[in-house]
Amino acid sequence: QSATPTKRICIVGAGPAGFYAAQYLLKNLSDCVVDIVEKLPVPFGLVRFGVAPDHPEVKNVINTFTKTAEHPRLRFFGNVALGTDVSLQGLRNQYHAVLLTYGSDQDRELQLENEQQSHVISARKFVAWYNGLPGADNLEPDLSGRDVTIVGQGNVAVDVARMLLSPLDALRSTDTTEYALEALSRSQVERVHLVGRRGPLQAAFTIKELREMLKLPNVQTRWRSDDFSGIANQVEQLPRPRKRLTELMLKSLNDQEKLSSSASKQFLPIFLRAPKSITEGEMEFSVTELQQDAAVPTAAIERLPANLILRSIGYKSSCADADISFDARRGHVRNREGRVLKVDASDSVDAGLYVAGWLGTGPTGVILTTMSGAFAVAKNICEDMAANALDTSTSKPGFEADDKRVVTWDGWRRINDFEIETGKAKGKPREKIVSIAEMLRVAGV
Ligand code: FAD
Repeated sequence: QSATPTKRICIVGAGPAGFYAAQYLLKNLSDCVVDIVEKLPVPFGLVRFGVAPDHPEVKNVINTFTKTAEHPRLRFFGNVALGTDVSLQGLRNQYHAVLLTYGSDQDRELQLENEQQSHVISARKFVAWYNGLPGADNLEPDLSGRDVTIVGQGNVAVDVARMLLSPLDALRSTDTTEYALEALSRSQVERVHLVGRRGPLQAAFTIKELREMLKLPNVQTRWRSDDFSGIANQVEQLPRPRKRLTELMLKSLNDQEKLSSSASKQFLPIFLRAPKSITEGEMEFSVTELQQDAAVPTAAIERLPANLILRSIGYKSSCADADISFDARRGHVRNREGRVLKVDASDSVDAGLYVAGWLGTGPTGVILTTMSGAFAVAKNICEDMAANALDTSTSKPGFEADDKRVVTWDGWRRINDFEIETGKAKGKPREKIVSIAEMLRVAGV
């Protein structure tokens, strides 16, 4: 009897979900080989292009991903996009199992008139701009006005507020792109409004991010005391993380009444306001009331000054290939515990096709949550293989790079070395290459 052929697994997308799933598979399936195909010439997804430049410690996960990438049973193929360079059917012919982890590269919209005007941009694009995502360098956000209004109060919104309000010197030693540093050095922004539909007890930012804001030099945080009426009485009943966050907000509110500030910039969190309309230089909000945790607009209106509006109400995924069973309304791949459902809208599982990370769960959760989710899906792949639920009886060829200019892990190492070297001269951890053509040149392909 001939030995069972090596199990070939393809992972699409080299972000945290892809790398953590690969790590689990390599450890627990001794007869598998894993190929990662990635759209960009460079790996790491939102760890490179999302996580704020002044949070370098968060990026340490890259060391773990690098170890995984250098495993003898893993191959990396950068500059290969599902949907344009390869098709899902093609990959399924070449592999016993395909795991989709290509993330969320779109953003939710407010669905307001005038939203397409140039002074309204998504936080996603702004983040991509300062982080050097190829193609994002020509955004040219207008920072010539005094007021920026951010719609949304999640950690991405707070990251963006911090980037706008941080002293430039603090950013110069990060890997913020040069063109963004240059634009920020000319910024006239003095006030950042951070607006949410619901109240302080529903605030989506976390305590670490708030603490950082409160500590920013030359920035005063100003809360509205009306937003906090009745909140102090509820603190004791709150679950612990929410309790600590609320206590910190209340303390800061209390301090602002007592202390005078000479700060020239302001961070202004505003609760209970739902976006209503956009005009030149202003944004109109409905005053809301909370009913069972839901924000219900009242007839009252408030206008906030807004030379620039940043929409930060969430990411969503796109359907990279017509053969993927995609829930367009929710913006994620239809699945049950990471097993992708058939395209025919039945609820049966499409054997051999999996999804993990933001593409499967929707765009929520931090790297740690993404890690647990990816491990769980990889475990299901191992179990399905063990239960013979996938056809692994025939051998499969795996990815064959024909005429496509593929960036291997060695190619990425050359890009990485080059970026670190260029960064040194400027006292930065790296100077990111922002053009794909330049990445390919440096990678030597
Ligand atoms: P991604 O990281 O998006 O990876 C997807 C990968 O797939 C990318 O490399 C992409 O290029 C690739 N891809 C896309 N399309 C294709 C295609 N068609 N073919 C092939 N490849 C493709 N978490 C923290 O723990 N701490 C933080 O400080 C933090 N900050 C964040 C800041 C921002 C602005 C954002 C948006 C998120 C932040 N997160 C943070 C959350 C964290 O980034 C996510 O949990 C995590 O990146 C999700 O991993 P993923 O692999 O699902 O997606």
